[in-house]
Formats: sequence, C-alpha cells, structure tokens
Amino acid sequence: MESVTTNKPGILVIDDDEHVREFLLDLFREAYNCCEVSSAEAALMVLAQDSFDLVISDIHMGGMSGLELVPQVHALSPDSIVLLVSEQDNIETAIEAMRGGAFDYILKPFDIRHVEAAVERALKQGLLLAEKRRYKDELERLLIERTAEVDRLAYYDTLTSLPNRALFEDRLTQAVALAQRADKRVAVFFIALDQLKKVNDTLGHLAGDQLMQQVAVRLKGCVTESDTVARFGGDQFVLMLPEIKSTKDAVDLIASIQEALNPSFHLDRQELFATASVGVSFYPDDGKETSSLVKNAGAALYRAKKSGGNEYRFYTADMHAKTSKRFELETSLRHAIDNHELLLHYQPRVAIDSLRIVGLEALVRWKHPQLGLVSPGDFIPLAEETGLILPIGEWVLRAACRQNREWQDKGFARMRIGVNISALQFQQQHLAETVMRILKEAELGPEFLELELTESSIMSNAEATIDVLTKLQTKGVAISVDDFGTGFSSLSYLKRLPIDSLKVDQSFVRELATDPDDAALVMAIVSLAHTLRLRVVAEGVENQEQLRFLRLLRCDEIQGYFISKPLPLEGIEQLLAPTNLLLPDAEHV
Ligand code: C2E
Ligand code: MG
Ligand code: MG
Repeated sequence: MESVTTNKPGILVIDDDEHVREFLLDLFREAYNCCEVSSAEAALMVLAQDSFDLVISDIHMGGMSGLELVPQVHALSPDSIVLLVSEQDNIETAIEAMRGGAFDYILKPFDIRHVEAAVERALKQGLLLAEKRRYKDELERLLIERTAEVDRLAYYDTLTSLPNRALFEDRLTQAVALAQRADKRVAVFFIALDQLKKVNDTLGHLAGDQLMQQVAVRLKGCVTESDTVARFGGDQFVLMLPEIKSTKDAVDLIASIQEALNPSFHLDRQELFATASVGVSFYPDDGKETSSLVKNAGAALYRAKKSGGNEYRFYTADMHAKTSKRFELETSLRHAIDNHELLLHYQPRVAIDSLRIVGLEALVRWKHPQLGLVSPGDFIPLAEETGLILPIGEWVLRAACRQNREWQDKGFARMRIGVNISALQFQQQHLAETVMRILKEAELGPEFLELELTESSIMSNAEATIDVLTKLQTKGVAISVDDFGTGFSSLSYLKRLPIDSLKVDQSFVRELATDPDDAALVMAIVSLAHTLRLRVVAEGVENQEQLRFLRLLRCDEIQGYFISKPLPLEGIEQLLAPTNLLLPDAEHV
C-alpha cells in the first residue's frame, strides 16, 4: 500500500483482481496518490483512517459487493466520489449503483481514454462538491454570527454594551414575577448623568460617548451578577436589585454609585468630574408592573435633577402631580409672547473706578397671569428644552434694540445694551442675519448692541462660532462671554474668538474676599483677559468689599446688586436720567 503524503488527489482502488489493480495503479501512480486494497472490508478499514478524493471499486468481489460499499464509503468520507467498475454485460447493476450514490461507472475491459476521462470528471465533481460544502458551511457560520449580532443589537446598547431598555424590561418583569411569589421587594434605580449635555455641548459628542462608556463600566462595578444595569439611551441608565431586603440596601447602593463616579474621568483631551442623579422606585410599594416601576423611578429622577443634581429621591405619590405642573407651565409659556406676558428688566453695568453706567443688560421676565413674575431661572431651561427659546430670544432681542433706540430718541446717554443668547439660538444658521435684520428694523446702530454668550454655547462648535461672531463683530456688534469660568473654555480658541469682554461668573465673585482660591482665579482671568485685550466684567457684586477687591485685581467693570438690581423700565429710566449717571458716589466707595 502506498502512503498518501503529497497534495496530489488521493485515489483508493478496490478490486479482488490483482491485474485490474495493477493496471489502474500503473495508469494513475504518477498523477495521483494511489492506494489499493483487494476487498470492500479492507477498503473500509483504510477509509476509517484516511480520506480519498476518489474511490474506484469493483462491483463483484468476494465478500461485500461494491454496491453495498457505496453508502458506507459516503458515511465514512462524505466528500469522496465513488466510481464503480462494471462488467460490460452488467450495466444494469452499474446504473443501480449510481442510484445508490456512485458518481459514475467504468466498463471492463478498460478503454484507457474512457477511464482517464471518467476519473477526471469524478475528481472535478469532487472539487465542486467540496467547494459547495465550504460555501454552505460558510453561509451557516455567517448565519449564526448574524443571528447573534441581531440578538445583540436587539438587546444590548451598542455604545456601552450594557443591556438595553428591552432586555432590562424583560428582566424586570421576571424579577417582579419571582418577587411576587417569594413575597420580596425589587428596587429600580433610574440614573442620569448630570454633565452629559454640557460635555456634549462643549467637548462634542465623541467625548460624551467616551464619558458614557466609562460611566457604564463604573456602574457595572457597583452591582453583582444577579443585578442588572442597562442603558436607556441619552444620559440615562437603569439599574435593578431583584432581592432587596431593606431601603438601606438602596441607599447603600446609591452611596457606592456616587463613590464610583467620584474619581475624575479621562477623556481624550480633558479630565473631568461627573455626578449622577438617581430616582428610585420599589416593587410592590410604588408599582406592581414593570412600566409603572420604571415610570415612577423616572418621576423620582426628575425631582432629584430639579434639586440641582448629584442627589437621589425615592418615589412618592405626589411626584406626578409636580411633573404635570411642568407641562402646564410649558403650555402657558407657549402663549407668553402672543399674550404679551414677557417683559424686560435692565441691570446697569458700570466702570469700576468711576461707577459710571457704561451699559445695560436686558434680562427677561415672564408675567404669568397666576404665578406672578417668573424669573428666567425658572423658565429659560424649560424654554431651551422645548425650543421655545427661539421665538422668546428673538422677542428679547427685538424688544431690547427697540428700547435702546427709544432711549436714544429721548435723549438719554447712548450706551450698549447686552442681550443674552442661548446656545440653541446660536446654533441657528442665520443668527448673524437675524441680528442684523432686527437692528435695522429698530434703526439701532450695531455698536449699541452686545451679545452675551455662555462659554458652553461658544465651545460646542468653536470653529463655526468664529465665523458667526466675526461676521457680527465686523458690523460693530460687541460680544461677551457670560458666566465665564463655569464651562470648559479652550484657551487656544479664546485667543482666536472675536470677543470684547469676559463676564466673570458670580460664583467666583461671591467668596472673593474670603476664599483665596476664588481671588487667585479672578486674578488669573483678569490677567489672561488683559493679555488678549478683553475687558473683564465682574457679575454679582453685592458689597463694597467685593468691589474693593475687584479694583485691586484690576477688573474693568462690575454689575450687581451693590450698584443696582435689574430694574423695570420706569426704574431704569430714573437711573439713566442725566443727573443720576454716577452711581452711588464713586468718590466714597
Ligand atoms: P446672567 O446673564 O448671568 O444674568 C445675571 C443674573 O444675575 C441675573 O439673574 C441677575 O438678576 C443676577 N444678578 C445680578 N446681580 C446680582 C447680584 O449682585 N447678586 C445676585 N445673587 N444675583 C445678581 P436673572 O435675571 O434671574 O437671570 C438669570 C439668567 O437667566 C441670566 O444670567 C441669563 O443666563 C438668563 N437670562 C436672562 N434673560 C435672558 C434672555 O433674555 N435670554 C436668555 N437666553 N437667557 C436669559
Ligand atoms: Mg448675561
Ligand atoms: Mg452671568
């Protein structure tokens, strides 16, 4: 028996007639790896060890016949092709053999050309079959992978690889069913990251995504195998403890979540700190079904967020009433412009040395028919969430420009009026055009308008911002960065941005006289601003001590209750009267 070693196709010849075997072997030895045996039984033993591309077998041998052999060959070696050798006068048997699975037959006595042709065809067929099988296997593999992928997409969040809402709800439903039988409690935690929006706005969505991925890993570290953390999308995660013993377990988990989020996060370009707000509901106390448990944990989360973030709240029955109040507010805000419920208050901005009024800031107020005067802190966020800030912002801009024009007509000293612009307004395509149109309508010179933008709205798309601001600045409109120090300004952009002044956020001014860190920070801001030839305005100056400090730090202008609260029209007009322009007596402060 010759061994099968090289890559040549392998042929097994089975015949009890030695001459036949020799004839075939002589014919194929060179081109193929050949092997010969004298009986079907011996062939099966060889086939159990080795596989052959082609098996050529006699039909009539002592012992098992070629016909009986065919299915057994295929059982052992499915890719082998079988050729049967038949006597001329026994063609019916050969045909029957082919029905049983042989590929072809050759007739004795041999005609070399026929034999060679049959072998070639058979081997080709073998290749074809092998190729077909590979293709089929590959298809099956792909199909399995695809099914797994579809499952993954259907049940897992692609960004964080955590279970998604569907899988969470499924597991919660199971947990609730088990808890019901065992008389146990289940806790549902609705968790929202407080900073995601800010990170997205200032550092971009890629950074936001990175943050969410890192938060997901830390949240996972807070729970055991039997608990589920899932991502609900946006900045929201949900977490479930299926067997909670006491409310304290929930409090402990929240503490460990807060602790896990405590260390800073490292994003590509930035290190930052993040906190989360958490709302909690319990089965069965706060709901018997998945949907109500999730909804109620969500209502509790909303309250936690409203208290300023990094807080948690347990669901209480009156929470939805409070939430529906929000919708009422939204509805009435929609009509605020048409019903002439919006008005402006004005706060003077004064030069730090002379305390002479150098400008005014227009601050919007909402005169709600039932609630009275609502301050912007209470409705601007809602207006931003709902997009209502666009018409409201445009109204403010128009009203402020018209008013300023009117004062000029009345003979008051001409000065700039500052108008706050929201990030959303700023993202509008035609902000520069809108501003110019409004100025034209009001017949106000662009040099009498200043736009106040927050750091975050500038940084969210710094490149596009440069264009818009440059357009406005070349027309003469002044630009200031509001609440400076609370965002993540990139110094390199600050240098390139066409801005005129920085308004230092009141949180730094508040403790200025007592907190050396704040003093150092304001000092750094002032020197940075002066290097970039920007004016520095301190916001929220409430007392003489802060004013003295700010003079020491070489701040240029101030704004705050110490000079004047924002005043309604009549009040500010009194202040603007020529005799009053000097405020309080500069000589004595
Ligand atoms: P802002 O632009 O930083 O305005 C300064 C805020 O600080 C005003 O609050 C003002 O009343 C308050 N403030 C001024 N001096 C002092 C002080 O000495 N002490 C303290 N504690 N606070 C002082 P207000 O009017 O409630 O406005 C709050 C914020 O609402 C504004 O902050 C601004 O971001 C936003 N806002 C106001 N009007 C508009 C508007 O028309 N459009 C937009 N988009 N936002 C507005
Ligand atoms: Mg402002
Ligand atoms: Mg401010």
